[in-house]
Amino acid sequence: MERNIYCTVCRSQLRIGEYLVLSLKNRWNDKGLVLLNAEPGNYSVTTHSSFTVKEGEDYTFYCPVCHTVLNDKEKPHLVKLFMEEDGRSTVIYFSSIAGEKVTIMVNDREVKELGPDQARYQRYFDLQEEYRKYLH
Ligand SMILES: [Zn+2]
Repeated sequence: MERNIYCTVCRSQLRIGEYLVLSLKNRWNDKGLVLLNAEPGNYSVTTHSSFTVKEGEDYTFYCPVCHTVLNDKEKPHLVKLFMEEDGRSTVIYFSSIAGEKVTIMVNDREVKELGPDQARYQRYFDLQEEYRKYLH
């Protein structure tokens, strides 16, 4: 299965082998590069030993190629990328807060949510779910 993950602005491929390469910084200006596992739902983070991603900190993610901020302005605490898998285009989101495990994939057919922290972000995608509750 071919999976490409790329920048929403310059469309550069951010996946190298099993990893996504991203640049990030927190509000204290701690900055560096991370390798995130490119498999949706795998939340391993690899960094150089001199750079620690701090659990619970909110990070600003940048495209390492064009340096655009990848955090979605309309969806606080989510980072937005494009993914293409088997010819299908999907928007993929993950949390900008270190340690939060959530992946949301949206395409023309469905919204797919993965990870134990997904409930926190469902309201951005599935307002109808709210209404459905009252219809039972
Ligand atoms: Zn870019």
